[in-house]
Amino acid sequence: NYSLKQLQQIDAAHHLHPFTDHKELREVGSRIITRAEGAYIYDSEGNGILDGMAGLWCVNVGYGRDELAEAAYRQMKELPYYNSFFKCSTPTPVLLARRLAELAPKSVNQVFFGSSGSEANDTALRLVRHYWALEGKPEKNRIISRKNAYHGSTVAGTSLGGMEPMHKQLGGAVPNIVHVMMPYAYELALPGESDHEFGLRAARAVEDAIVEAGPEKVAAFIGEPIMGAGGVKIPPMSYWPEVERICRKYDVLLMLDEVITAYGRTGEWFAAQSFGIEPDTITTAKALTSGYQPLSALLVGDRIAGTLVEKGGEFYHGYTYAGHPVACAVALANLDIIEREGLVERVKNDTGPYFAQALRERIADHRLVGEVRSFGLMGAIEIVRDKATKERFEGEGRAAVVVRDHAIANGLMLRATGDTMILSPPLIWTRETIDLACDRIVRALDLAEKDLHH
Ligand code: PMP
Repeated sequence: NYSLKQLQQIDAAHHLHPFTDHKELREVGSRIITRAEGAYIYDSEGNGILDGMAGLWCVNVGYGRDELAEAAYRQMKELPYYNSFFKCSTPTPVLLARRLAELAPKSVNQVFFGSSGSEANDTALRLVRHYWALEGKPEKNRIISRKNAYHGSTVAGTSLGGMEPMHKQLGGAVPNIVHVMMPYAYELALPGESDHEFGLRAARAVEDAIVEAGPEKVAAFIGEPIMGAGGVKIPPMSYWPEVERICRKYDVLLMLDEVITAYGRTGEWFAAQSFGIEPDTITTAKALTSGYQPLSALLVGDRIAGTLVEKGGEFYHGYTYAGHPVACAVALANLDIIEREGLVERVKNDTGPYFAQALRERIADHRLVGEVRSFGLMGAIEIVRDKATKERFEGEGRAAVVVRDHAIANGLMLRATGDTMILSPPLIWTRETIDLACDRIVRALDLAEKDLHH
C-alpha cells in the first residue's frame, strides 16, 4: 500500500538499479525479498530469514522446487493458455479436478477454478444463492459468517468477511450477510466453561442466527475451519460437528473456506477431514500450487452440481484465467511433491505434535505470553501485559508488532495480527527447524519485553 510518491520512488529505483541495489526501495520502508531457497527467504541485504509464514500461508513445499519450475516451463511450451469457454477445455484442469475430487471429502467432487481465493469465494457465494433459486427458493439467500472472519478482498469477499475496518470502507456491503461470534475461547469463554461447552455454545450462535432469520431465508453458513488471518483461532473439537448438525437440521448449506487450511497444513489434505465434517462447498487457493502460480479451486458436491445440470440452470460465470493450463500443471506437480514426500502425514504424526509441544514447553511460560495454541503447522501466541488477568498492552496490536520486528531482525519471519503472533511455516519444516524457530521466538520475546516495559 504505497502513496503515489512512494510508487514513483520504487519505479525510479527499479529503473536505476534493476535487481542489484535496492536502497531506494528500502528507503520507502519495505523489506525487499529477492530470492528464497528451501525454508529460507533472503532480503536485498543478504540476510537469510527462516520463513515462518510460508510466504503468506502458501509455500507448503518450500522454495526452489525445480519440478514446479519445470512443470510450468513444459506447459508454457506446449500450450501456454487457452480459455475454458465455448465448449473448450485443456487437459491440465481436467486432470487436476479429478485429482482434487480423489483427495477431498466425499461430499465435494466437482471443481470451479479461479485465480485467487477471493474469486473462489465470490463464485461460491453466487453459486449457493443460484442453487436455492433453481430449487425454487430464491428467498433462501442469507449467508451466515463470523465476526472478524477474512474471506478475501473483493466486494463479495469483504462482505462475507467480518473485519470491521474493511467493512467501513465498503460503502455498502453485499446484502443479506450476517455475522455471528467466532469460536475464540481465550477471549470469549465464560469463567468455568469447558472447551467442549464453549464449542457447543459458539455453534449455537449459528443456530440462533438461523432461527432468528427463519430457516427458509438462510442459504448457507461459511467459515474457515481454523480462522487464519483473524488470528489462528482454533475451535474446540465440539464446534464443527455441531455446526454441521445444525446446518443439516435447517437445510442450510455448509461452506468451508480452506484457502489457508487445505493441502496438508492441518495434517490432512483438507481441514474438513481433521474435524470430521462433510461440507457442501470448499474454497481453496494458496497452497494448491504452493504459491508458485495464482490458482484457486472451488469444490462443490453432487447436490449443487446436480441441480445446476438437472434444472437447466446455466451458471453465467467464467474468469478468463479459470483453469489456467500452466497454473494447473504446477498444481499437479505440487500435489505430487506433497504426496511423494509424505508431507501431510508428517505434519499429522511428527512435526505437528512436535510444534505443539515446543510451543507449550518453550514459549507458553514466557511472561509476555497469555496463551499458545496450534493445530498441525498453524500456530498462535497471544501477547499480554499480564498473564493472569489477560490484560493487553496499550495501543491494540503495538506489542505484537514489537515482537514481530525483533523476530524478523533475529531471522524469523512471522506475522502480527492484533495482539496475536501467528506462524504458518512451510510443511518441509523439521523438528530441528521448529527448535531453531523457538530459539528465535524466545529471543524476540525477551527483547520485546525490555522495550515494552520501558
Ligand atoms: N480466504 C481466506 C481464508 C484467506 O486467508 C484469503 C487470503 N489470505 C482469502 C480467502 C483470499 O484469497 P486471495 O488473497 O487469494 O484472494
